[in-house]
Amino acid sequence: MASSHVAPKIDREALRRKYARERDKRLRADGSAQYKRLESEFSDLGSDPYILVAPREPVTDHVTFAFIGGGFAGLVTGARLKESGIESYRIIEKGGDFGGTWYWNRYPGAQCDTASMIYMPLLEETRHMPSEKYAHAPEIRDHCSRIGKHFGLYENALFHTRVTDLSWEEDKKLWLIRTDRDDEFTAKYVGMGTGPLHVAKLPGLAGIEKFEGKSFHTSRWDYAYTGGSPEGSPMTNLGDKRVAIIGTGATAVQCVPHLARDAKELFVFQRTPSSVDERNNLPIDPEWFAKVNEPGWQKKWQENFVANLGVGFPADDLVDDGWTDLGKRIRAQVIDMPPEERTPENIMAAFEDADHGKMEEIRQRAQAIVDDRETGENLKAWYRQLCKRPCFHDEYLQAFNRPSTHLVDTDGKGVERITQKGVVANGKEYEVDCIIYASGFEVGTDFAERSGYDVTGREGLKLSELWKDGMRSFHGLHVHGFPNLFFVQQNQAAAFIANYPHNLVDHADTVAAVVSHAEETGHSEVEPTVKAQEEWIEFLLTGPGARIGSTECTPGYYNNEGQGYGEQERFALGHPAGAQGFISHIDAWRKSGKFEGLEFR
Ligand code: NDP
Repeated sequence: MASSHVAPKIDREALRRKYARERDKRLRADGSAQYKRLESEFSDLGSDPYILVAPREPVTDHVTFAFIGGGFAGLVTGARLKESGIESYRIIEKGGDFGGTWYWNRYPGAQCDTASMIYMPLLEETRHMPSEKYAHAPEIRDHCSRIGKHFGLYENALFHTRVTDLSWEEDKKLWLIRTDRDDEFTAKYVGMGTGPLHVAKLPGLAGIEKFEGKSFHTSRWDYAYTGGSPEGSPMTNLGDKRVAIIGTGATAVQCVPHLARDAKELFVFQRTPSSVDERNNLPIDPEWFAKVNEPGWQKKWQENFVANLGVGFPADDLVDDGWTDLGKRIRAQVIDMPPEERTPENIMAAFEDADHGKMEEIRQRAQAIVDDRETGENLKAWYRQLCKRPCFHDEYLQAFNRPSTHLVDTDGKGVERITQKGVVANGKEYEVDCIIYASGFEVGTDFAERSGYDVTGREGLKLSELWKDGMRSFHGLHVHGFPNLFFVQQNQAAAFIANYPHNLVDHADTVAAVVSHAEETGHSEVEPTVKAQEEWIEFLLTGPGARIGSTECTPGYYNNEGQGYGEQERFALGHPAGAQGFISHIDAWRKSGKFEGLEFR
C-alpha cells in the first residue's frame, strides 16, 4: 500500500481545473443510453456457457420462504433463516449453481477487491479459512457452494430458472411465483437479492454485430475459444491471436495481465484509466488464522472495516489495505486540526487534500512502473479516488511493459466503431481475431426491468409504479403495500459499497429476526406502516445525499455517466451517518425486539 501519510504539496485549484477538463472531455449527451444490453450471440438469455440446462418438471408446491437470486444475498438470508428454524426455504436462480455475480464472472484473474476475511460471508459458520488476503474467483464460487451445502440450501433450489411474475394473493395471504420453467408455486415470505451488477452491457458501437471474429463479454468468458481456465492456467489458444479488450475498469484491470501473458498481441482500448494502487496479496497463514479465529471474529472484523472507513477514530485497523488507507489519511489530517477548527468544511477540505495526495501517489506509481513514458502518462487517472471504483493490482501496469501489449488510449473519446475485421479508435483500424468487452453492467436502470419481472403487491400495486419517482422503503428492506417481502440490497440502508456483502449479512439478520417474530407470534403478515416508511425517507434526506454520484466526477456508472442523479436516483441513499450509523441503528432496533415501524397482522 502507498505508505506515507504526508501528502505532497499540491495546488488544489490547479488540480480541480485539470480534473474538470478531463471530465468534460468525456461527457456525452447520450449518457447511459450509449450502452446496450447483450443481444443475439452475446446474450445470456437461455444460454449458460458453464453448466448445461437440465430438463425438469414444473414445480407447483408451497414453501415458507422463497428467495429470488442465488448470490450472496440468497445464501446468507437462507443461512440465517435455517439457523432460526425455518426449514422450508427455496432459492430461485437464473444460473446453474449458487454464486450470483461469482457464478457468471469467471474471467481469468477475477478475485475479490475487498479482503476475503470480511468479503466472504459466513466464514466463521462454515469454518473456512480463505487461502489469500484477496481470494480468487474459483475459491469464492466454491465458498458459495459450501454455504449452500452447510445450510441445506441446495435441497429445494431451482437453478436455471428466471422468475417472470411475483404477485401477492390477498385472499390467501401468500405470494404466487411464476417462472420461465412453468413453475407456479406459493410462498408465505419472499426475499429479493437480484444484485446491482448482473445485467451485462455493451457499448452501443456501430458495426458491433458485423465483426467476423470472436467476441464476448467478460462475464461470459469463452474458455472453449481461449483455452485455459478460471483457475488461471494459460489460454493456449490465444498464442496465435491478436486480441482487443475494450474497457479499463475493475474487470479489465484483473484480466489484462492474463491476456497480456497469453495473447500473441493485446490491444487495450482505454477511454478513462482506472486508479490502480498496490494490491499486496498474501497467502493466509493458518497459524495466524487460528489465533484470529475466536467466536465472533468475522463480525468484529467487518465492523472494524466499517469504522475505519467512517468518521470516527477506531483504535486499530484489522484489514489494513488500500481502502482503509484513505480513511487513515483523512483522520491524520483531522487529528492535526485544533478541535475548534474541525468544522464540516474543514473536514471536507482535509478529505480533498488526503485524496489528492493519494491520487498523486497512484499516478506516480503508474509512471514509475511503466517503462514507456507516454504509456505511463496515459495510464494516470485524473479524478478523485472514489469517482470510480478504486482498483488494486500488482501486475496490471506491469503488463504494459510487454512488447506484445499495446495501450490504445483514446483521450476520453473511446472506441469509434467496430468493423468486420476489428476495432476503430483514433481514426485507425486495429485488425484483431477476438474482441473482449469489459464494458460493465447496467446500474441505475429501472429495477423491474433489470430484475426481469415486476412485483404486484396489495390491491394490484406495481412496484415499478410505486418506485417510478424513486425508491421508497423502510430500512431499505421492507416496502409498504408489499407484505412479507424483503429487499436484500444496500440502498436506504447501510449503502456500504466498499464491502457489499456486509449490507447483505446485516439485512439477513433482520429478515431472520422479523420472520421468527412473525412465526412465533402466529401472524400471517408483516408490513411497514406508511408513517414509518415516510419518516425513514425524510430522515435519510436530512443526510448529505448519495455518497457517490457527484457530477464533478469523471463520467461512469457511479454518477449516471456524468449526468448526476435525477429525481428518481436521489433516493438511492444511505444512512445520514454512513454505514456505521445504519449498522448501529439497526442493531439496536433488532435487539429492542419491538420491531418499531412494522405492523404484524
Ligand atoms: P465498468 O463499468 O467499471 O467499466 C466499463 C469500462 O468500459 C470503462 O473503462 C469504460 O470507460 C469502458 N468503455 C465503455 N464504452 C467504451 C468505449 N466506447 N470505448 C472504450 N471504452 C469504453 O465495468 P467493470 O466490469 O470493469 O466493473 C463494474 C463493477 O463491477 C466495478 O465497478 C465493481 O463494482 C465490480 N467489480 C468488482 C470486482 C471485485 O470486487 N473483485 C472486480 C470487477 C468488477 P469509461 O470509464 O470511460 O466509462
